[in-house]
Amino acid sequence: MISVCFATNNLHKLEEVRAIVPDIRILSLKEIGFTGELREDFETLEENALQKAQQIANRFGIDCFADDSGLEVQALQGAPGAHTAHYAGPERDDGKNMDLLLKNLQGQLYRQAQFRTVIALLQGGATQIFQGTLSGSIADSKQGTNGFGYDPIFIPDGYSCTVAQLSMDEKNKISHRSKAVKQLAVFLNQGAS
Ligand code: IMP
Repeated sequence: MISVCFATNNLHKLEEVRAIVPDIRILSLKEIGFTGELREDFETLEENALQKAQQIANRFGIDCFADDSGLEVQALQGAPGAHTAHYAGPERDDGKNMDLLLKNLQGQLYRQAQFRTVIALLQGGATQIFQGTLSGSIADSKQGTNGFGYDPIFIPDGYSCTVAQLSMDEKNKISHRSKAVKQLAVFLNQGAS
């Protein structure tokens, strides 16, 4: 069985990916003996995902992948992008982040945006990049309580409610993260067969 490490400290993401690729052994950071923080020093999702995967691949000499996600608002030239989690400050407060974004879009009629997830895989010395996007627009105010992050102010294209008003199953069918993970799964399973 192929085994590959997922460089994340988010156990929810680890379980999600394990469920999607049951034929592949996904090792956690804990299982390989890494307990530190993963650095994300760059201005793009691609570079940050690659940096996280490289930290583990270089140190442990194993195949590894990492992900990075962000919200890209067209009227703000792609911001908050790689700064999505800490847009309003280092405390990474979802409420404050959304308030700042709504403030920065006040009076703006063009509110098109996308969530984007990038996954970088380092396998056998080769690098593969996968990505998934969810297009939509930024609402005028917060609606709904499901999900996390910016879900209460993001209306997916074709919907008249925010992501925070969708069930987890509905969200997972359309989300940027599930699209990227499914591409990773197809690639890993091709190598496994
Ligand atoms: P991460 O790289 O997956 O940790 O995502 C970075 C930040 O993007 C999170 O802290 C959230 O603020 C935001 N984000 C990522 N995915 C989602 C989502 O599915 N819904 C809402 N916000 C998200």
